[in-house]
Amino acid sequence: MDANEEIKDSIKRNEREQESFSDEDEAVHSVRFKRKRANGTSAGGAVATGRGSGLYLDTIQRYMLDFDFEKVCSVSLSNLNVYACLVCGKYFQGRGPSSHAYFHSLHENHHVYVNLSTLKVYILPDSYEVTDSSLDDIKYVLDPRFTPAQVQALDKNSGQSYDLNRKPYIPGFIGLNNVKANDYVSVVIQVLAHIPPIRNFFMLENLNNKSELVKRFSTLIRKVWNPAAFKGQVSPHELLQEISNASNRKFKLTEQGDPLAFLSWFLNTLHKDLGGSKKKNSSIIYSTFQGEVSIESQPIETNLPKGTELAFDANQDVAKTTSPFLFLALELPPPPLFHDELEKNIIPQIPLTTILSKYDGKTIQESVADLKRFQIIRLPNYIIFHIKRFSKNNFVEEKNPTIVTFPIKNLSMADFISDAEREKALGFHYDLLANITHEGDPATPNSTSYKVHIQHRAKEQWYQIQDLFVEEINAQMIFLSESYIQVWERKAGV
Ligand SMILES: [Zn+2]
Repeated sequence: MDANEEIKDSIKRNEREQESFSDEDEAVHSVRFKRKRANGTSAGGAVATGRGSGLYLDTIQRYMLDFDFEKVCSVSLSNLNVYACLVCGKYFQGRGPSSHAYFHSLHENHHVYVNLSTLKVYILPDSYEVTDSSLDDIKYVLDPRFTPAQVQALDKNSGQSYDLNRKPYIPGFIGLNNVKANDYVSVVIQVLAHIPPIRNFFMLENLNNKSELVKRFSTLIRKVWNPAAFKGQVSPHELLQEISNASNRKFKLTEQGDPLAFLSWFLNTLHKDLGGSKKKNSSIIYSTFQGEVSIESQPIETNLPKGTELAFDANQDVAKTTSPFLFLALELPPPPLFHDELEKNIIPQIPLTTILSKYDGKTIQESVADLKRFQIIRLPNYIIFHIKRFSKNNFVEEKNPTIVTFPIKNLSMADFISDAEREKALGFHYDLLANITHEGDPATPNSTSYKVHIQHRAKEQWYQIQDLFVEEINAQMIFLSESYIQVWERKAGV
């Protein structure tokens, strides 16, 4: 039985159990409750007797439950000691007499509550804890957990799941709700949730004592891969709220932003929050994405005659430095200026390897006062390309529409590394893992959108994801869109 099946099966068993106990026989119900030992003398003196709670458990309305939103009391807005009413889905603080949850139980006759941090379920207003395996599916949706074997199996499963509405969905390939204008964040989350070492780390590590940002990111990734979700979609609302806080509102969910700026901030913040330092491999972020590039530079001679081709002067010193990178910036040539109507329809194209030649150690780049040459000296296992499409011109954002063409598999980086022999053992061929594209005119921000292409490994099928929309796409269609950020995965030694 594969990992998906295992999880779904245990939850189905609970569903069946629940169906077979749907009559109102209290005696039968009480048998199903594992009595809690008398040491359960926590606040409220809770002891699970199960008396009558079976009836209450039947009042739970799973389709009303959505645990993706910020866990704050709907009345007090406090985030301390918050419970979800399992009948209407609303959040309330506390459970003692005079608490908001307590009043809700009296006024609305809603009696079953789950504590959103301990996952313990209580009957109110009586305030006793209920432990029953029929509640496991709810706890799982709230906080999906995976074993290492289940995570290892994720890329081998090609089965689909069904949500509460019997709608099919593919675990790992579900849409993220666009709360307001957060597609620039969602595409980045989708990409990171599919990079195996990143995904596996955030699904399996105990991150309890890490930052709120790390914890919420981990929960969201586990929800994206949940094979037993109530809804075949997830809202990234909780993580977005924390991104906004942690970035001092630099990245908001109400305003379109730049996925590259977000990715850069997010990777660096996660690295820091996970205890990473300047050393290589000091966090899962660095050990996955960090490479190193060498930079040679020489001042530009000022008194050269006009039209002289720029070249390094062999008689002058060359300054050499190295610099770590998390992504590589690739420049596009300026788009040709068209003169007649006919030519207007021609969209320029350029091969990825041509723009990568910036890193061949020979191509000369002109910066403000220097000539520069770049070459990669250490390749990361996952290489991120930033295709520089956007430029500001008189404060108006302009986009270069050039299409970048590339092979989806087996991209060779051999020509862009300083020591091909050394990298050979690790491999210098890469397969495309994810492709973020931009659509629309950046000068009118409300008309633009970001999409992402990601491959399902077991099915070898590419998907296009835009907010909640997930659809199959032909691999040949991928390079027809305006790629903005790409992630490539190193193939084992070639
Ligand atoms: Zn309620």
